[in-house]
Amino acid sequence: MRLVNRLDRELGDGASLVAILDYDGTLTPLVATPGAAHLAPSVRETLARLAESERARLAILSGRGLADLRSRVALRDVVYGGCHGLEIAGRQLRFRHPGARPSCLTATRRALTASLPSIPGARLEWKGLAVSLHYRRVAPGRRPRVRDIATRIVRAGGLTLVPGHEVFDFVPRVGWNKGRAARWIARRMARTLPPRRRVVLYVGDDTSDESAFVALRDRAVTICVGAKPTAAEYRVAGVREVQALLRRMASAMNS
Ligand SMILES: [Mg+2]
Repeated sequence: MRLVNRLDRELGDGASLVAILDYDGTLTPLVATPGAAHLAPSVRETLARLAESERARLAILSGRGLADLRSRVALRDVVYGGCHGLEIAGRQLRFRHPGARPSCLTATRRALTASLPSIPGARLEWKGLAVSLHYRRVAPGRRPRVRDIATRIVRAGGLTLVPGHEVFDFVPRVGWNKGRAARWIARRMARTLPPRRRVVLYVGDDTSDESAFVALRDRAVTICVGAKPTAAEYRVAGVREVQALLRRMASAMNS
């Protein structure tokens, strides 16, 4: 069944919705530097309409740090999941994975800082419960070296390496990922909705979103943004298509 037909069918008849969305590459186009990924006002307006509906709950789940994510979206009534869901806050929810502490990352942060001079263009970002090594500005010929360094450092530090779009995220190895976080969020938000039919939807574009596509299989409508191989049930071409879907959902939830 086509995605729009599926959504129209699922969301009709007074059903309620839990929408869990990735940020970069899903709500905003991928840009040259992560700092430049701003949410378009028209998208924020659509998200606000969705979040304000009594029948809808909205969560945004990202590899970004929680405070960074929250300030970029800047909407109330939204649940935010930062550092791949290690930290979750919003709508009376408050979660921080008990095994994830900034101190888990101290040695890795030090090793990454020491390695930076050998990879021109690379940049480190400290996110509290994760450290990111950005390599968007590293020359293509040097990127295999970035991967080698990341792999070596993650092994030494006993962390998990989460590859993303021109970034490696180093996160505490606590058996948590976007899939676990998405299920945690979906379960808690569903409880706050009327006990009629509840539809869960997840949209994401990156490797880290695959854990959510798998974890939510048969429990959610899963949508991958872009052309890469995916476990998601549906696929859309890009951010513009996501925006059209969001407008459709916002209308359905406010009708
Ligand atoms: Mg993304």
